Amino acid sequence: MRLMEAIIDANHRALAGDSSAGLHPAEFADELPLVALTCIDVRLNALLPQVLGVPPEQFIWLRNAGNIITGPQSSTMRSLSLACAVKGGKEIVIIGHTDCQVGKTTTMQLLEKLRAIGVERHMLPDNLNEFFGMFGSDRQNVIKAADIARQSPLIGPKIPIHGLLVDIETGKLDWLVNGYQAAETMTTRWNEFVKSAGQSVDKLKSLTDFNIGEMKFPETKIGETVTNAENWLAEKVHKLEMKPTESAPEAGTERPPVPPRIPLPPPIRPKVHLRRSPK
Ligand SMILES: [Zn+2]
Repeated sequence: MRLMEAIIDANHRALAGDSSAGLHPAEFADELPLVALTCIDVRLNALLPQVLGVPPEQFIWLRNAGNIITGPQSSTMRSLSLACAVKGGKEIVIIGHTDCQVGKTTTMQLLEKLRAIGVERHMLPDNLNEFFGMFGSDRQNVIKAADIARQSPLIGPKIPIHGLLVDIETGKLDWLVNGYQAAETMTTRWNEFVKSAGQSVDKLKSLTDFNIGEMKFPETKIGETVTNAENWLAEKVHKLEMKPTESAPEAGTERPPVPPRIPLPPPIRPKVHLRRSPK
């Protein structure tokens, strides 16, 4: 059993009343730390990472309003990439939640709320919904984010990218995107991409050697070359685009592409408490 399979299994068994259910982190040393992107909703503060059963010291937690990823090179994608490359994250999970206010707020409500904090309409971009990443479906939003992350050139194929939805009331996890499957189908495309990108880097390097001999790439720090790299990456990214697969369900459907193997638990108690000492 792999890490996310064990997390889902323990979660569902705990909700079904199995008091011995829990993740055994020592068995998954090669698959931890886990990198998670969640919403800023304060109700998640207490729910995570306990609901996953992952020890806090093995839990790298990124948050933004609505757990959105706006693009394959967005600020959030860069942080996810560094979470794996620099902080040792082994798997990524994007966790949406039920009753997300980002998904429930209409454009008119958003305008009113922004005006209430002193932000007038003319100070904002035309397409508010797109700009703030507003969405209509908690599930579709997670699937979309996992899809963008999987296509990002900043995350290699060795890192599985999962999508979950957590019930904010019960703590029950639904597995919407199985990152183990998507990672396998990506490997071939990734190898092609790396090969073609490598050739481009060689060309780029010979150009810069000729034109700007003073520049020393190896000594630049993270962040300094982002702007220049962006343009080059943008041309490359389209080559990574995946055709719709089992991880990209048809528009309008709410059906999880990969149903959890574990049967749904019976009616649920108020909260799940995994791996917490008795009060
Ligand atoms: Zn939310």
